[in-house]
Amino acid sequence: MRPLAAHIDLDALRHNYRVATACAPRSQSVAVIKANAYGHGALACAKALEPLAPALAVACIEEALVLREGGITAPIVLLEGFFDADELALVDARGFWVSVHSEWQVEALEAFRPQTPIPVWLKVDSGMHRLGFAPERVAAIWQRLKTAPGVGELHLMSHFATADAGDSGYFERQLARITALGETLDAPLCLANSPATLAYPAAHGAWNRPGVMLYGSNPLEVDNAITRELRPVMSLRSEIIALREIAAGEPVGYGGRWRAARHSRIAVVAAGYGDGVDRHAVDGTPVLVNGQRCPLVGRVSMDMLTVDVTDVTSAAIGSEVTLWGQSESGAHLGVDEVARYCDAISYTLLTGVLPRVPRLYSGA
Ligand SMILES: *Cc1c(COP(=O)(O)O)cnc(C)c1O
Repeated sequence: MRPLAAHIDLDALRHNYRVATACAPRSQSVAVIKANAYGHGALACAKALEPLAPALAVACIEEALVLREGGITAPIVLLEGFFDADELALVDARGFWVSVHSEWQVEALEAFRPQTPIPVWLKVDSGMHRLGFAPERVAAIWQRLKTAPGVGELHLMSHFATADAGDSGYFERQLARITALGETLDAPLCLANSPATLAYPAAHGAWNRPGVMLYGSNPLEVDNAITRELRPVMSLRSEIIALREIAAGEPVGYGGRWRAARHSRIAVVAAGYGDGVDRHAVDGTPVLVNGQRCPLVGRVSMDMLTVDVTDVTSAAIGSEVTLWGQSESGAHLGVDEVARYCDAISYTLLTGVLPRVPRLYSGA
């Protein structure tokens, strides 16, 4: 069998969830498992988190239905809300919570008579300028939803544009806007994504919405005492399937992007962009071979990539290769570090692992 697999450590996932709750003791934390749990497998992650998390969050009803059909009974929040008024019957029947960001959704909820009032997170555009109502419209919408018989518990929700950036100027303005609204309306708040959960206690509300940190990635530009506690959940590992020696001056791979500066030993690894390895990975992107760092060289192909193992004397056919996460020997290569070599972010690398790659779970 092809040796490539994404090893998913569900103990690490639960540990990271506990880190998220420990750093926000006044808040409840909804575990964000949209996009197939950032590539980790939504149902397996939901089952691992359900005993800890009071609610789970996905982007849309299709993702939520997969979880219900898989036996998940926890409340599930639809972060993008419903796309059509027809979805409300299923939302009601399956016990989903919805975010509401547009006037037509408010009208649909006012007209709907569910069996159980639907919990609603009213989305405010405090400065992200993507989804949500402008702050000056929120009081009126809030009153309408408060008095709609089909609407259950109501929260104000907002999303930060720059919580990961360290420069808090814009963040502070967003926070001030939404906090003022929350005070005026006496509304419970749901604001913090992972970076705000990690770095801005002032943004912790009744609920937080940590996502990427649950998978062990640090979305901040620098580490802090909390981020250092996070453990990688996915380890993407394969093996060397061929080795060759090339003379100084010889190129490797498509376009001959990399050329050997010395007589070199090149390992071919079974992993490529057809698996989700980013083709933007530059020469020098770190890879672990038998736990030892060495540089990716040459362009990533669809099913393979090449690594310079001249300095790894132990490298042989069948040697273990870690593209990110933890090697079998316990060496560590952060997905955040790899992303910097790919003009990417951990989010795109993790969600980009394609269905061809088997997910192997431990700690279930
Ligand atoms: C994806 C998402 C989150 C989680 O963001 P992270 O940066 O992964 O923690 C939180 N809130 C909303 C609305 C989202 O779409």
